[in-house]
Amino acid sequence: MCEAAVAQGISEIGFTEHYDLHPDEWERDWFKVDAYFVELEKVRAQFARDLTVRAAVELGEPHIFQLECQELLAKHPFDYALGSLHWVGRRLVFDPQFFNRPIDESSRDFFEELERMTRVGGFDVLSHFDVIVRVGFDVYGAYDPTRYEDVIRQVLRNVIEHGIALDINTAAFRRRAQRLTPGLEILRWYRELGGERVTLGSDAHRPEHVGGHLPVAIEALKAAGLTHLTFFERRQARLVPLP
Ligand SMILES: [Zn+2]
Repeated sequence: MCEAAVAQGISEIGFTEHYDLHPDEWERDWFKVDAYFVELEKVRAQFARDLTVRAAVELGEPHIFQLECQELLAKHPFDYALGSLHWVGRRLVFDPQFFNRPIDESSRDFFEELERMTRVGGFDVLSHFDVIVRVGFDVYGAYDPTRYEDVIRQVLRNVIEHGIALDINTAAFRRRAQRLTPGLEILRWYRELGGERVTLGSDAHRPEHVGGHLPVAIEALKAAGLTHLTFFERRQARLVPLP
């Protein structure tokens, strides 16, 4: 992954290992935090000349597993924590079963839970804002965020209030959906409400996906009137002008 980043001229990368505690989650005991930091220090030394390597974690439903998540963050020197909504109750957003109902129902269900999650906070970056489109697209086709504008705007107000950045995630370009999450419309609302913190995420789970479609994300940020990228070190944000 580091080699792939260097080959593309990327100067900073974060490894956001999954920390998922939902009882139905197959990845529940996935994260071996001590082994992670040992490996991370190794690659930091190995790539010290070309690449800044950030320690990070993707917290699944941090509003529901607040105690466990905050304990993990307090114990280890993470540079940032993603907050992610993968489960709404007993339903997983990557399972086609999540979408076996009208689009307004599944979408509202998701965004209302996202609103509760961001109201609580306790993380630095909100992952893949409207991730439901990854699988939802296969079921319904394109979706229209303006139908849920009221609740989406409340999510945006919540993240701004907590100083949480938005992850501009390109993973849906590796699926039929072919779009950013969040897309331009939501980015414009964010800017309009005073939001300025965004990070770039290719959400790569394999080296060949590192840095994928990031130029598209940068163009969308500019089109939305955003001017900076946000980087994190030991959970402190630093804003850098867009390239
Ligand atoms: Zn995720």
